[in-house]
Amino acid sequence: MATEHEVVVIGAGPCGLGALRELRRLGVDDVVVLEADERAGGLAASTVDDAGFTWDRGGHVVFSHHGEFDRLLDEVLGDEVLRHERSSWVLAAGAWVPYPFQRNLHRLPADVAARCLVSLIEAQATATDGAADLRSWAVGAFGAGVVDHFFEPYNTKVWASDLGDLSASWIAERVAEVDWRALVTRTLRREDDLSWGPNDRFAFPTRGGTGEIWRRAAAPHRDRIRYGARVEAIDPAERTVRLVDGDEVGYRTLISTAPLDRLVGAMADAPDEVVAASKALVHTTVHVVGVGYEAPLVDDRSWLYFADPDVPFYRATNFAKYAPANVPDGDVGRYSSWMCEVSSSATHPTSPDGLVDRVEAALRSTGVVPGQPEVATRHLETVPYAYPVPTRGRDDALRTVLPWLDAKRIWSRGRFGTWRYEVGNMDHAVKMGIDAARRAVDGSPEALVPLELVASR
Ligand SMILES: Cc1cc2nc3c(=O)[nH]c(=O)nc-3n(C[C@H](O)[C@H](O)[C@H](O)COP(=O)(O)OP(=O)(O)OC[C@H]3O[C@@H](n4cnc5c(N)ncnc54)[C@H](O)[C@@H]3O)c2cc1C
Repeated sequence: MATEHEVVVIGAGPCGLGALRELRRLGVDDVVVLEADERAGGLAASTVDDAGFTWDRGGHVVFSHHGEFDRLLDEVLGDEVLRHERSSWVLAAGAWVPYPFQRNLHRLPADVAARCLVSLIEAQATATDGAADLRSWAVGAFGAGVVDHFFEPYNTKVWASDLGDLSASWIAERVAEVDWRALVTRTLRREDDLSWGPNDRFAFPTRGGTGEIWRRAAAPHRDRIRYGARVEAIDPAERTVRLVDGDEVGYRTLISTAPLDRLVGAMADAPDEVVAASKALVHTTVHVVGVGYEAPLVDDRSWLYFADPDVPFYRATNFAKYAPANVPDGDVGRYSSWMCEVSSSATHPTSPDGLVDRVEAALRSTGVVPGQPEVATRHLETVPYAYPVPTRGRDDALRTVLPWLDAKRIWSRGRFGTWRYEVGNMDHAVKMGIDAARRAVDGSPEALVPLELVASR
């Protein structure tokens, strides 16, 4: 006989914790969170390695679009938070260019800058709306020069996908647009434009990495979280989930933050079109490579982007700079650390074999790590589901899968629950969890889930 709960949540990442905290705040105590891992945090968890270096699952910075997330941070971290101004740079065409690349062309070699500028002006003079794919959109918005020198090689690495297969519908806040008149003026004046975007200032926990937020958010709710509880099957007719240990748990509402394709795969009665749509969803895997050095922290930059296909990583994060406590004893006079992300996908695979050596060599060849400092630690973690890829078929697939689940009172939420990169950050995940909790209690609408993805409204 299954134990039954008003609400069952799959996953104690930011979304599941957002839901749990809100449900309890609203007086719903009959809730259980089933978490496969032995700890909270999901993709936003952190690890301390044997040498005492802290690593995130890829470079996380804390910024927010939602008051609920700000309040959660204030509550769990208080003043144990460091605040930074972004210093982010792109290595392309042999030059370091401030992010966003397309707004700082004067930093490029003159002939490259000229090609980028001329093609950008030409593109904007002839721009047409409604590009079908990301590459066409970028050529229309930035011109062939910017696309060839930065946008295409960089994004091909991030997404481990051909840009012609990606949609341009998600870009609103994620890619800086540029006005050619302002760009020409700044280029001639050789002025940097540094402050674009929502993360030009960001926060980071004083110690414990990004995962400290979620450790603390989960701790008061330990009695409602079952760790090591992986859900392997769901029976929507009986409203039960079955765990790998055979235990069954019943629900009135199921909020799942597991990857959407896995969720559908766990349901025996899913129709063929729903199964096919879930299988059409594409994700990247990211190999996170951390290298700790016995060398003082001297670099003032936050994170760096790399367009060159010969550099294995698309981004390197100056992790000791985020928080001194990310190195042993907080001793940045002795240690520094770089955390690099390498994408892989079914169509563009990258093997982890020998990857740490390749990353370390590239950190030196690009000049990020000068000289030959002693390596104090090497860390490799593969994150199987890292980026939900905004393919051209994604939105159709979501319109097929999510309403079908919704009609069964199964709400798939969070980064991989809704598979929408544009609302895939921690603040979005928390907000989605909070809104799902409110909906469970009083039916109120969810801010980040479009109506077309919800069956019962
Ligand atoms: C490389 C990288 C960089 C990022 N950078 C940033 C950043 O700078 N800023 C930012 O705000 N966000 C960033 N993010 C996104 C951030 O990590 C996510 O927004 C957030 O973790 C999503 O929370 P979630 O709860 O939706 O999902 P997840 O974190 O994926 O949590 C889901 C949880 O469900 C559990 N689970 C899955 N399947 C099952 C099952 N069958 N049974 C039981 N439990 C299960 C998992 O173990 C996991 O704990 C980044 C992510 C990555 C990968």
